[in-house]
Amino acid sequence: MAWRFPSFARASAALIEILGGTKVVSAPSAPLGVAVAANAPTSDATNDTTSDTLVARFWGVRGSYPTPRLGAGAVGGETTCLEVRYGRQSLIIDAGSGIIALGEDLARRARSAPGQRQEVTVLLTHAHHDHLCGLPFFAPLYDARFHVRFFGPDLGNMRFEDIIAGYMRAPYFPVDFRSLPAQRSLRSLRDGERLTLPQEGEPSIGVPGARAAEAPQGALLVDALFTQQHPADGAMLYRISGGAARLVFATDVEIGPPGARGERRLAEFARGADTLVHDAQYSDDDYHGANPKHGFGHSTPTMAARVAREAGVGRLVLFHHDPHYSDAAVMELQRHARRGFPEVVSAREGMELRLDGARRRLV
Ligand SMILES: [Zn+2]
Repeated sequence: MAWRFPSFARASAALIEILGGTKVVSAPSAPLGVAVAANAPTSDATNDTTSDTLVARFWGVRGSYPTPRLGAGAVGGETTCLEVRYGRQSLIIDAGSGIIALGEDLARRARSAPGQRQEVTVLLTHAHHDHLCGLPFFAPLYDARFHVRFFGPDLGNMRFEDIIAGYMRAPYFPVDFRSLPAQRSLRSLRDGERLTLPQEGEPSIGVPGARAAEAPQGALLVDALFTQQHPADGAMLYRISGGAARLVFATDVEIGPPGARGERRLAEFARGADTLVHDAQYSDDDYHGANPKHGFGHSTPTMAARVAREAGVGRLVLFHHDPHYSDAAVMELQRHARRGFPEVVSAREGMELRLDGARRRLV
């Protein structure tokens, strides 16, 4: 397969220069030749600056690890990555293997706007491999036209910027994060904070309250809720608001039995949202069965449906599918969840939701 990141050579050269001319990188085709599948999906996205619609596109919906074996099915095999577009904003949640095809698509979109600076924002829920494994192959990082802003939680005793930068360095990867051609900035987000992304200008972080009303017209707002219901260091859940539309992204969270504090807290966070994207990795049978998955940090369709009902959301999207589950098994989760909540869909690769806060429809 042809090498897909033409800027890799420049990044490598910069790295070699830093290291005094000693060649330390392998041939690109060797360790990195897993770039994008020839049939990788593309979107019809344009930089629509007039619409007040929030568009969410799923580029990866699996949990734990990519599953090429099932990748040709309707559900897809890539791990977690969601793109949210709103006006000129392009927001990405998580850098699982799904972000690789998205990166190629962003590069394609950039080519249709020559000379224009490209701004991309990446939110990370946490640092487990299935949420980061696509980052080293994210094309905008190798393109000097891009500015990629990262936001996410500090975890354990590590600062967010060290978590991300540490993922791309020797001996794990031949290109160092600090030598990439794209402009990069990294900032920590904490529980209860709000990230404001204006259509023009710099993003800001604050705590919602009296000043929340001062959010600039057309801004995309991101509220952060940290959960300890994912081993061992927790994960960040996000609420994305654009105009009247509101989407809550709650993956890698184990709700557990009814009435727990975490359930009430998440239901409050998601109250009245158009769409709740919720972890539902395990069927009830697998969660409670002979080889129980209790304590693994993931929920069931029953738990997700309970949160959706308590929160009064418009639609529930089941997410973070187990890599062993076939299309039929994932559809069975959807049927199961509908016993507890009527509006349920299982996420699948390439699925696009359009949210306007009033009329909800699946495209
Ligand atoms: Zn995960």
